[in-house]
Amino acid sequence: MAQIPHDTIKQVLAATDIVELISSYIEVKRAGSAFKALCPFHHEKSPSFNITPARQTFHCFGCGKGGDAIAFVREHENLPFSDAVRKLAGRAGITIVEEQSTPEADQARRVRGRLLDVHREAAEFMHTLLMRSPDAQHARDYLKSRGFGAEMAKRWTVGWMPENQEVFLTWARAKKFTGRELVNAGLAAQRDENNPRSGLYVRFRDRLMFSIRNEIGDVIGFSGRQLREDKRSGKYVNSPETALFRKSNILFALDRAKKPILKEKCALICEGQIDVIACHEAGIEHAIAGQGTAFTNQHARLLRRYTKAVILCYDGDSAGFEATEKAFRELAIEGISVRVVELLGGADPDSFLKEHGAEAFREQLNNARDFFDFKLDRATRDGRLSTANGRATVANECAGLLAVMTDHITRDSQINHVATRLQTGASGLREAVSKASKQTKPKSNDRETHKPEVSIEPTSVDGTVRYLCHLALVSPEAQHLLAEQFEVLHESGEFIEGIPLLEIILGVRPDPADPAAVNAFLGSLSEPDRLALTRDPMFAETAPENAISAVETSLCQLSARTLMKRDAKVKAALSTPGLEPTRMIQLLEEAKEIRELLKGVGQRSVFEDELAPSTRRPPEQRKGPFRRERKP
Ligand code: ZN
Repeated sequence: MAQIPHDTIKQVLAATDIVELISSYIEVKRAGSAFKALCPFHHEKSPSFNITPARQTFHCFGCGKGGDAIAFVREHENLPFSDAVRKLAGRAGITIVEEQSTPEADQARRVRGRLLDVHREAAEFMHTLLMRSPDAQHARDYLKSRGFGAEMAKRWTVGWMPENQEVFLTWARAKKFTGRELVNAGLAAQRDENNPRSGLYVRFRDRLMFSIRNEIGDVIGFSGRQLREDKRSGKYVNSPETALFRKSNILFALDRAKKPILKEKCALICEGQIDVIACHEAGIEHAIAGQGTAFTNQHARLLRRYTKAVILCYDGDSAGFEATEKAFRELAIEGISVRVVELLGGADPDSFLKEHGAEAFREQLNNARDFFDFKLDRATRDGRLSTANGRATVANECAGLLAVMTDHITRDSQINHVATRLQTGASGLREAVSKASKQTKPKSNDRETHKPEVSIEPTSVDGTVRYLCHLALVSPEAQHLLAEQFEVLHESGEFIEGIPLLEIILGVRPDPADPAAVNAFLGSLSEPDRLALTRDPMFAETAPENAISAVETSLCQLSARTLMKRDAKVKAALSTPGLEPTRMIQLLEEAKEIRELLKGVGQRSVFEDELAPSTRRPPEQRKGPFRRERKP
């Protein structure tokens, strides 16, 4: 996994101040020697997100997320480890030289790299065709008719894919891209899926090509707009799902809109890519779009990292209205507040901007209505509120929508507001909401109880082993002592969970006095291993004063537990029917040996420990029973 040299990771971490880094994403307040903030990774009202400058780490006691600057960027920007390091390196002006790693990792990296190359180079090629090819005049004319010039086409790498597919295939061959790579990138497909020799066809023909980029700006897919009307295919054709392109978690233009969204404390969600481009070109740069109208929960979660408020600007037709309601559901579950803007005469942002200009558009955004006002205004317009029956139906619909909101303070004021507008009692509506929320419980409930929302499960590590891992990472003496006990620990591996993780720490021995070294080490671990260490609240603690005796005590406890488990195993083996005499003698001898060894570590403590195997008590309290206080 570690293609970036360890030293470079250390260098990057050393050059990064975590407080400064996190402050550039969210609001951070000083609290003594540490810093506090509202956690950006789960919904909360009082801050349980802590930053410890001395260790250059963060930790949230609400959702358990934590780690170093790299972990923060990974989590906040949803980036793989190496991309997060690259991002921080870029910030710090450090050049990364990648090192060789395993053949499999190399292979996977090469495949992904090639896939990104195909996308980037194809985007450039198609852009050049759009700008220069004599055959692309109608494409250029179309852009001009929409009010866009060459500058816009350049900024957004807009391109043209010709009708004649040989143009693209010849270019790809000259560039040494293989057929397999073109298929994997979704640019081409096999004529006959069952026959690899059937040849390729290009997926897009005579289309205006828009590049779709991921959060960090790599081209990962395309959206092709029809230039000549052809009923046999859609107005827009998108790349299929590929290893890079996952529709449900790509927000168009998020790479450009990230900063403006943070600045405006709001995201503007449009329906089409052209609308988004038109907004950006007019200086309204917090505009983004899903792929079409489908706004998923993943989109909402991605967006939540940047903002708690959005404005939806979908088409004024009934499909647009339905899409607005659906997006509201996904966003409200994530605690994001939703306002809606309906442009005059049902215009889309692109045509509105062309006709009325940016100033007028901004004014429309300022006048965006709260989602429920939008819904009720629409119901009024449709005459649904003129009868008691109609009002009851609308009240029911509103209850269902209010029920998904996880921001309960806002929800409560919304209930009052909606009730007033429907001329009904707030208590009745509140009841309907709580009834409806019971039906949707599984989704909204787990968000409120601050359960960690991590999909990856941490490696299962015994409590005592976790404590030893912690000691090895914070105390040089403890680390030294543990390294000497390597053999003993290894023996426990069969019976106690998590020993391999401790062994990794003792194999690498990152310097506990150097937070950058420890963080770099944590960064090199697998995700489950890292989570096992960083999700423990103890992770944020510094070394105890008596680290050596804490290690001795814990080792003692581990030995005792190992012996107990060995003992149980031997006893189980002894009760096997039809045991061979030689084997039985062996087992009896082993049982005797275990008994002797158990005497050495103190039997009473062993039983105490078995009763509460996972509790982590301060070493002072643990020490007594193990050492001296044997039963008389
Ligand atoms: Zn949290």
